[in-house]
Amino acid sequence: MSDTTMKNLIGLSREELAAEMASIGEKPFRAKQLWHWLYNRGETDFAKMTSISKVMQARLAEHYVVRRPLVERELTSVDTTRKWLLKFEDGNEAETVYIPDEDEQRGAVCISSQVGCTLTCKFCHTGTQLLVRNLTSAEIVGQFMLARDSYGEWPTPDDSTRLLSNIVMMGMGEPLYNYENVAKALKIIMDGEGIGISKRRITLSTSGVVPMMAQAGAELGVNLAISLHAVTDDVRSQIMPINKKYPLKELMAACRDYPGASNARRITFEYVMLKGINDSLADARELLRLVKGLPAKFNLIPFNPWPGSEYECSSMKDIRAFSDFIQDNGYSAPIRKSRGSDILAACGQLRSESQRQKCSRLNERLAAGIADEHHPAPAA
Ligand code: SAH
Ligand code: SF4
Repeated sequence: MSDTTMKNLIGLSREELAAEMASIGEKPFRAKQLWHWLYNRGETDFAKMTSISKVMQARLAEHYVVRRPLVERELTSVDTTRKWLLKFEDGNEAETVYIPDEDEQRGAVCISSQVGCTLTCKFCHTGTQLLVRNLTSAEIVGQFMLARDSYGEWPTPDDSTRLLSNIVMMGMGEPLYNYENVAKALKIIMDGEGIGISKRRITLSTSGVVPMMAQAGAELGVNLAISLHAVTDDVRSQIMPINKKYPLKELMAACRDYPGASNARRITFEYVMLKGINDSLADARELLRLVKGLPAKFNLIPFNPWPGSEYECSSMKDIRAFSDFIQDNGYSAPIRKSRGSDILAACGQLRSESQRQKCSRLNERLAAGIADEHHPAPAA
């Protein structure tokens, strides 16, 4: 069998890995040993898994591979942000970004959950991509693993000494429209005997898929970020079509019910600053009214333009006034510094360039199970 047709062990749950071991005649407890090699050591070569017998190594090599998504290009920005352009086995592409903190001693890996996105938010480049499919759990976990490969962070370092310390599900795609695979991947990533990233260091960002929020909170317990971006249904529906399906009232109620949110673990409200659309002090006042009683913090994102985008970023003066108003009322509201814009790695700029335009949007979406009445694909 060729390498690409053999089963990849990455992305399987512990139970599934144990079942695979049983299927090749190994004792299920061997899965624990293997898990350690895969996710703590980051080893991809069975022959180097020295605590595993030669016989079992050979058997593993006969049936399986340990594979990351293929890195087609790796780019590092002048500000040290790093981006990987990935190519999956079916030719589809997505992107992963590492954003170091200011002191560059730690930082967040920004992971994609889909190729493209069905949601077509007007200000977002990803939403203009024709081709959409869900990423598998292997492709999601694989993104973090290849970032660790790139920085040589194997075996899993102690939490306090990691460069790749945090994860944000803020890349391409809507994670709650691919919940099953995202949840499976995050459970692998959070496992303490492997990659070992705590749920407190993981933030999942959603455009507001209300019916999935409670389940995500209960099952994963990760930090929640909401792409809010507007304070009235009118404006929000204009720039984010999902608001027609799940309007602000429902979204805010789901935030109030989000398990695990507290003053120590606040919900982040992301707010992209669009000139003349959502950036007045009246908007800021309404924003505070909306989140009243919620453990909230804000992240103001200066709009990042992309070729063909129809908005302008608010002036720095207006963004500062907006931020000051919110902070004067007792909330944290930093202005997000744009990182990696020279390599098109900033928020909302991710989009695979070499997509196959010919592909029928509807067929792709139906096949991936992600077309619905709210996101009808245009006639191909
Ligand atoms: N689909 C999820 C995860 C993507 S997160 C979500 O929307 O929440 C990426 C963040 O960047 C979101 O808050 C998104 O709204 C924001 N964003 C999208 N396009 C942007 C742009 N051009 N400039 C600044 N931020 C943008
Ligand atoms: Fe999709 Fe998020 Fe972009 Fe909207 S902002 S199109 S939900 S990736």
